[in-house]
Amino acid sequence: MYNRFSLMIENIENYAHLNHIPIMEKEGIDFLTNYIKENNIKSILEIGSAIGYSAIKFCLASKNVQVTTIERDKERYNIALKNINDFNLNKRIEIINDDAFNVNITQKYDLIFIDAAKAQYIKFFEKFKTNLNEKGFIISDNLKFHGLVNGNDEHLSRNVKGLVRKLRNYIDFLNNNEEFTTTFIDVGDGVAISKRIDD
Ligand code: SAH
Ligand code: MG
Repeated sequence: MYNRFSLMIENIENYAHLNHIPIMEKEGIDFLTNYIKENNIKSILEIGSAIGYSAIKFCLASKNVQVTTIERDKERYNIALKNINDFNLNKRIEIINDDAFNVNITQKYDLIFIDAAKAQYIKFFEKFKTNLNEKGFIISDNLKFHGLVNGNDEHLSRNVKGLVRKLRNYIDFLNNNEEFTTTFIDVGDGVAISKRIDD
C-alpha cells in the first residue's frame, strides 16, 4: 500500500539516514511489527525513542497498540514529538524526555523494547523487567552491532571495542539467565527475544 503515511515514513527514514540517527533497519522493524501482530501485543515500553520512528511503526502495525517511549536527548525528543503529532498518534504514544534510569513506571507492558545505549543493556534489562507482564517479551536490538560482535576486534578503536565487549557480556547474561529464556534472531542488526521461564 502506498499512501500518505508511507511517504511520511520514508521522510523520517531519510532524515535519520542523513543525520546519522540509528533507527531500526528495515528488515528488523518489519520483523518486530509482524511479531507485534502475531503475538497480539497491546502495550509497549521502549527505551530509546530517537525521533519516534520505531514507536510510530509499532502503532501503525496494529490499532490496539499503545506505546510509552523514553528518550534522553532533547533535540531528538522534540523531533519525535513533531513526528508523533504528524501521525496523529499523540493519544497512543507517550514520550518521556529523560534518562531511562531516572524514570520510574508502575505500569506493566506486553513488550519492552531495549534500543538505547549499548553499554547499559544489562542495567536496562534489570531495571525494566519489573514492568513486564507475566507473559510478556523483552526484545533487545543491535546484538550483532553491524557484525562486530562476532568479528575480530583487532582493528577497532578502544571505544568500539568496549561496546563490543559490553554486548558480548549482555549475550552471556541472557544465555545464563535463570529467570528468562532468550532466542537470538539474525534479522536486521540482530535482535534477542527474552521470555520468562514459567514453572
Ligand atoms: N528506537 C529508535 C532508535 C533509538 S536510537 C528507532 O528504531 O527508531 C537510540 C536512542 O537511545 C538515542 O536517541 C539515544 O539518545 C537514546 N538513549 C541512549 N541511552 C539512553 C538512556 N539511558 N535513556 C534514554 N534514552 C537513551
Ligand atoms: Mg537499534
